Amino acid sequence: MTERNDTTPFGGLSIDFGGDTSVAAPASSAPIGSVPIAFGQDAATATGGPATAVASGGSTETKLLIVGSGPAGLTAAIYAARANLEPIVLAGSAPGGQLMLTSDVENYPGFPDGIQGPDLMTAFRSQAERFGTRIVDVDVDRVDLSERPFRLWARGVEYRAQAVVVATGASAMWLGLESETRLRGRGVSACATCDGFFFRDREIAVVGGGDTAFEEATYLTRFAKKIHLLHRRDEFRASRIMVERARANPKIEIHTNTGIDEVLGDAKVEGLALRDTATGEARTMPIEGLFIAIGHKPNTEAFRDWLEVDAKGYLVVNDETHSKIDGVFIAGDVHDHRYRQAVTAAGDGCKAAIDAERWLEAQGLTEANTLTAW
Ligand SMILES: Cc1cc2nc3c(=O)[nH]c(=O)nc-3n(C[C@H](O)[C@H](O)[C@H](O)COP(=O)(O)OP(=O)(O)OC[C@H]3O[C@@H](n4cnc5c(N)ncnc54)[C@H](O)[C@@H]3O)c2cc1C
Repeated sequence: MTERNDTTPFGGLSIDFGGDTSVAAPASSAPIGSVPIAFGQDAATATGGPATAVASGGSTETKLLIVGSGPAGLTAAIYAARANLEPIVLAGSAPGGQLMLTSDVENYPGFPDGIQGPDLMTAFRSQAERFGTRIVDVDVDRVDLSERPFRLWARGVEYRAQAVVVATGASAMWLGLESETRLRGRGVSACATCDGFFFRDREIAVVGGGDTAFEEATYLTRFAKKIHLLHRRDEFRASRIMVERARANPKIEIHTNTGIDEVLGDAKVEGLALRDTATGEARTMPIEGLFIAIGHKPNTEAFRDWLEVDAKGYLVVNDETHSKIDGVFIAGDVHDHRYRQAVTAAGDGCKAAIDAERWLEAQGLTEANTLTAW
C-alpha cells in the first residue's frame, strides 16, 4: 500500500481537466498520463497497428468495431486483436474513459503501489495497439443496426462491422461548480468505493438524496470520522430503510435544504460554502473531502433506438454480454450500475471480445483463435 501525504488526499496530484469534464471531453491537446495522444483523428490517421481495415469512399470496414476506450473497450480490443479480429476502436471524445478523471488507483490488481488513472489507461491503450488495434478518437453519433454489416457513423465517416462491442461507459454527474472541477482528485470524488480509503479519520461530506448517496455515506463510515450528508430538498428519493439506517449511524449527520455554492480550498478541499435552500442563509462547513453522489448518466444516446435500456437508461444484457441484436455485444459501465469498477469493466470487455469472436466464428466470418491466443 502506498504511503500518502496525510494532508493531500489522492496524493496531492493535480490533473488539468481542461474545463467541465462532466461531459468527459478533455481538451484536444490534453495529455493522457505521460504519453500525449493526438485527439481529433480521422480513420486515415488513427493510432495503432497495421491498417487492417479497408477504407473506401468515406467508409471503413472491419470484422469487429469497439465503441469506447475505457477499461471495457480497450480490454475487448486487446483480446480481439490477439484473436486476429483486427478491431477498430472508436474511442470517443473521452479517450481512456472515467479513470482519466482520477489520480491514484489502488484497487486495480497488479499494481501493489497503486497507479495513476491516466497512466493505467495509457498502458491499456499501448497494449491494445501493440497487437494491431486501430484507435480513432471520435464519438459515434449515429448507428444503423438493422442488418449486417452494421453501420456506425462518426464525424462523417461510415464504419461497417460484422460485430460491434458497445463499451461507452457512464458519466458521473457533477454539480457543475468551477471549484468542484478544480478540486477533483484533490478531495472531490464521485466514487466512494474507489476513494473512501483516502479519507481515514477525516471529516467529509456526501451530496445527494437518493439511494446512492445514502449507500455511499454509510460505506464511508468505515473510514471517515464524520460524514455530513447534504441534500438540497427536505425529502429524499432514497428508500426509507436507507434513510433510517443513516439516521441511526452516529457518524452521519443529515442536512436537508442544504445547497453547495462552492467547494473551498486552493490545493485541496478545505470546506464548503453552503446555502439554506429555504431561507437563503449562507454558512461554511470545514471538511476535507466531498463525495458527489447525484447519479450517473449512461452514454447510450447513439444506441438507445436500437438496444434495450432499463428504467435507469442503462443498456440491458442477456447471457453475459449479448444484446437483443445478434452480433452486438455490451461491456462495462454502460450496462453495469451495480459494480462500476475498472476491473469489472475490463472483465466485461474480455467476455464481450470472446463472445464476439465465437459469434463471428459461428457465422463463418472468422476462425476461433482465442484458445491459441491466450
Ligand atoms: C472520479 C472517479 C474515480 C474512479 N476511481 C476508480 C478506482 O480507483 N478504481 C476503479 O476500479 N474504478 C474507479 N472508477 C470507476 C471506473 O473508472 C469505471 O468503472 C470504469 O472506467 C468503467 O469503464 P468502462 O470502459 O465501462 O467505461 P468508461 O471508463 O466510462 O469509458 C467509456 C468510454 O466510452 C467512450 N464513449 C462514450 N460515448 C461514446 C460514443 N458515442 N462514441 C464513441 N465512444 C464513446 C468514452 O470516450 C470513453 O472512452 C472511478 C470513477 C470515477 C468517475
